Amino acid sequence: MRKMYLSKSICFSFFLNAVLCSSTYLDYQATTPVDQRVLEKMLPFFTKIFGNPHSTTHIFGKKANQAVETARAQIAAVINAESEEIIFTSGATEANNLAILGACRHLKKLGKNEIISVVTEHKSVLGPLKALRKEGFKVILLPVQSSGIIKIEDLKKALSPKTALVTIMAANNEIGVLQPIKIIAKLVHQCGALFHTDAAQAFGKIVIDVKDSNIDLLSISGHKIYGPKGIGALFIRKGITLIPFTYGGGQERGVRPGTLPVPLCVGLGEAAQLAQQELLSESERLLSLRTKLLNLLQQQLPSLTVNGDLQERLPGNLNFSVKNIDGKSLLKQLQGIAISFGSACTSEGGSGLSYVIEALQGKPIVPTVAIRISLGRFTTEDDITKAAEELITAIKSLQHKKLA
Ligand code: PMP
Repeated sequence: MRKMYLSKSICFSFFLNAVLCSSTYLDYQATTPVDQRVLEKMLPFFTKIFGNPHSTTHIFGKKANQAVETARAQIAAVINAESEEIIFTSGATEANNLAILGACRHLKKLGKNEIISVVTEHKSVLGPLKALRKEGFKVILLPVQSSGIIKIEDLKKALSPKTALVTIMAANNEIGVLQPIKIIAKLVHQCGALFHTDAAQAFGKIVIDVKDSNIDLLSISGHKIYGPKGIGALFIRKGITLIPFTYGGGQERGVRPGTLPVPLCVGLGEAAQLAQQELLSESERLLSLRTKLLNLLQQQLPSLTVNGDLQERLPGNLNFSVKNIDGKSLLKQLQGIAISFGSACTSEGGSGLSYVIEALQGKPIVPTVAIRISLGRFTTEDDITKAAEELITAIKSLQHKKLA
């Protein structure tokens, strides 16, 4: 029985490997592969330089500590922050939770109990906001326009002397749309509140300067920038107090205690540095690939509508809908490309619209799927041609069936 199970699982694993090798990956906003250059920097820290970075009485700990501090500086450099303003977390989910819960719980003691955010935020922002509502905070979620961008007038109306924190993402994970964070931060500070931005999708992809844009708190994720999973960071402007939700040995300025995973920190640092070095050339390359993809699709699919603003958007993101298509059927047809249908759909590919797409006001809510294609560092011209061909064939055949 056990033998049969083992041979079945080996066969299945061979099958998965074969599919993996022949598939074109176009889901870089979900996650990215670790860049070989990043992996090489990380490897010695698993075995040779394995010391505890907080035990610096000997060379093992000192070397590990040096590596962590180098990584911290590499991350800070990308956003023009100081090294000591960066703390490591397990990812952007934890960074968002720490920024929002930590800042708001502190500011409540100073009489501020209102928070402003946006309906299209990631669940790791909406989740802590829900928790704070239960703790007595008033949470205002701003709507977005059909572009996916907030109206500045709405923000102005929502701000009050009681506003503790405004948290608005830099780039959306589904539609890639960029919010005007510099303008937002200025208004927030005029009102005496703090500004946090979830930059999980924006960090290393668009230029962000925390000093120039006056950002107080900013969240980062390693696995969106060709670094490892399970590591992220939070930028905390000097002088800002956060109440931690974990207590321990006092590491990371006492805000996020626990022994740091040195190889992951090194990986995040290296990935951040590479992203910074390649940002301009890579964004130009991705923009040209996306334009090519959109042109190919538009030539053959006249009912295609792009979801969200096309200009104020990450260069590697395309999110569109076509008439009379449901996610489950489309997923079955698409065997050679890995794309996604928006986070509200199940991993099997649901047919419901995501809350982000529903929030794009002014758009008729049509019962169709939103297709997210996200391009990245290893996407080639051939991948674009292949993806366009496969999508056009699948969509046309489904639309044809619907009409028949
Ligand atoms: N915010 C945004 C905008 C994201 O896209 C993601 C990842 N999907 C997260 C937060 C959470 O990041 P992590 O996986 O590092 O926890």
